[in-house]
Amino acid sequence: MSDSSVKIRIMDAICSMDGPSSKKSVRQATGFAWNTVGRIIDGLVQDKILIEKQGEPTHPGRPITYLELNPDNKLLVGIALGGNWWRFVLCNYSFDILHEYKILTPKWKDETKFYKAIYDFIMASLEKTGTSLKAIHCIGIASAGNIDPENGVLVSASTMGVKPGLRLPLQQEMKKLLKKPVLISISTVACAWAEYKFGEYAEIRNLISVGISIGIRAGIIIDGKPLITSPDRPAGSIGHTYIPGNKRQCVCGRKGCLEAFSGGRSLVKVAGELYGKTGWECARDIDLAAQDGDIRAKNILTRAARLDAMCIAFVVQLYRPEALVFTGGQCVEDGFFYNTFLEKLKRFLPEDVAASMRISISKIKEYGNAIGAARLAFEKYF
Ligand SMILES: [Zn+2]
Repeated sequence: MSDSSVKIRIMDAICSMDGPSSKKSVRQATGFAWNTVGRIIDGLVQDKILIEKQGEPTHPGRPITYLELNPDNKLLVGIALGGNWWRFVLCNYSFDILHEYKILTPKWKDETKFYKAIYDFIMASLEKTGTSLKAIHCIGIASAGNIDPENGVLVSASTMGVKPGLRLPLQQEMKKLLKKPVLISISTVACAWAEYKFGEYAEIRNLISVGISIGIRAGIIIDGKPLITSPDRPAGSIGHTYIPGNKRQCVCGRKGCLEAFSGGRSLVKVAGELYGKTGWECARDIDLAAQDGDIRAKNILTRAARLDAMCIAFVVQLYRPEALVFTGGQCVEDGFFYNTFLEKLKRFLPEDVAASMRISISKIKEYGNAIGAARLAFEKYF
């Protein structure tokens, strides 16, 4: 294990302890050798990340030295860039969210204005929190679309107007503007990493998070590590699975993709094509109509649920995760779509698989991608 990973493990152990921590309790929690724990903690105290406090001597011998996080520690920013919303979180080293904000995704104009819009969003959000950029350690940006995380390049993101071929050097440009360490990640990976670190099934080492909203995409954790995807190998794009008999045009340019039928925006179009004017403007409207017994809404959502369940059952069978976590606007606890989908997914899987796998809707809610981005940046730059 590298020194940086040991340092992060020790910080995580201190942050997650209920009572005060000490070198002894850190050693017990991590299993690291005494000299490793001592060396890393002394370094963290020297860097003013931790503060030492002398406890009362309770028995003969040395009093215990307790460790506390320095309240003046630097903070972390996480940004999630999506097709509908841009989200901001400010958090501390314990990953408590101190502030969260969102804005509607600005309309694409040009490359320079795109970077400037992200910079302005970060600065305006920081100003609202009363925090200066000086107080920020590093910034994680998770983006929708096709990302080259190794080089920090946003290759394309059709939902934000970033056309294929643009290849925006997002990391480089944001570093220039912000003069801070910046890490770019893929929203699906950031989302899955947030689930693995902070979600209901935290530390379950084989986990898939599936987002069902405009698109249908999965983030995958294999044996405690995120499956990092690349532009040549964009793993987890479940929504672009070909469905025989589906002739609808997909945003990717092909016809017949899963999300061209059952993605959020597609459902509204399908409703219009089948039934004319319905008054439904988003997937949620269709779901509410189905809950009220509207047979047209029920038909559309039942088909979408069946197709989604079929594709996700293949993914489960391929990889057999211990937990499956759902995010995105279409996954609502009492929703018609989600419950129909769940029933079909369980039917499509062998009984023992369906029974042993833990399945639920994410408890992290809408800021998951942003907090995951902040965490990935922390792990890179701490
Ligand atoms: Zn497609």
